[in-house]
Amino acid sequence: MLKITTLAGGVGAARFLRGLVRAVPDADITVVGNIADDITLHGLHVSPDLDTVMYTLGGGVEESQGWGRSEETFAVADELAAYGAEPRWFTLGDRDIATHIIRTQMLAAGYPLSAVTEALCERWQPGVRLLPMSDDRVETHVVVAREDGTEAIHFQQWWVRWHAELPAERIVLVGIDAASPGPGVIEAIDNADVIVLPPSNPVVSIGPILAVPGIRDAVAKAQAPVVGLSPIIAGAPVRGMADAALRAIGVPATAAGVAGIFADILDGWLVDSSDADAVTEVEALGIACRAVPLLMTDADATAAMARAALDLVTP
Ligand code: GDP
Ligand code: CA
Repeated sequence: MLKITTLAGGVGAARFLRGLVRAVPDADITVVGNIADDITLHGLHVSPDLDTVMYTLGGGVEESQGWGRSEETFAVADELAAYGAEPRWFTLGDRDIATHIIRTQMLAAGYPLSAVTEALCERWQPGVRLLPMSDDRVETHVVVAREDGTEAIHFQQWWVRWHAELPAERIVLVGIDAASPGPGVIEAIDNADVIVLPPSNPVVSIGPILAVPGIRDAVAKAQAPVVGLSPIIAGAPVRGMADAALRAIGVPATAAGVAGIFADILDGWLVDSSDADAVTEVEALGIACRAVPLLMTDADATAAMARAALDLVTP
């Protein structure tokens, strides 16, 4: 059985993973999920990226937006607003809140996030093994310019409240130096037949996972080939604001620019057909490269992307 290990953010990864499962239904797939977007809201531990993967693969996602629960209602959010509870810029749906209550309760009882995630997945049966990148707390903060100097704000505040429009000077992963890979993560990398980087945000989704001490090394030294798919098409993120995150780390928002960030670990990289002229630039980095359609317009198109990624690096 083909053993595939992927590193995953939220919406981009989850949609891709659905295509991967469709392309190779018999594969044994492990997903190492980003937890650096996690945030405590109204006392609840929210793990947006883990939940997006879990809901999407488990059939509970709101398809129209690609995250959150389907058939969601907002009674709790309305009541919180009536109390003037902060923050007002992040809304939790009623159904979604149940997930966060279970997670928060289990964490308070002493279970590590990996055990909590496994318990939540018992309900959703995502068909993949979902492992948090770490059981330690890591939070992405963004250093933004203010009139009176700079200020570090939580990634979610930058992204959700300010739509990444506040120019970012730096991105800081609070807690990363003291974090260890979660249980099973290094084994999943070591034992994989192929390692796949989905079209996730390279800076704030894939970046934090690789930054956990030990993970990037393990990926670089793994026996398995590593293949990625560009999240940037024709110089722009298909959805979201990944270009702002790339600007913050001084990398051009191009398909080849993103390949450059991962040059030390990549064996193969797919760019969109419209970026065919990036192929030679990527190959010059010593990375096999092909241009294929990379828009996840429907299940078939997404499965074809997954197939093309595997074909690029496996015989
Ligand atoms: P997030 O955590 O919810 O932001 O999700 P990810 O980090 O997993 O993925 C977000 C990225 O997916 C965005 O920055 C886009 O660049 C990328 N993306 C979204 N839709 C598509 C698509 O159809 N094709 C490709 N190639 N990339 C996409
Ligand atoms: Ca995310």
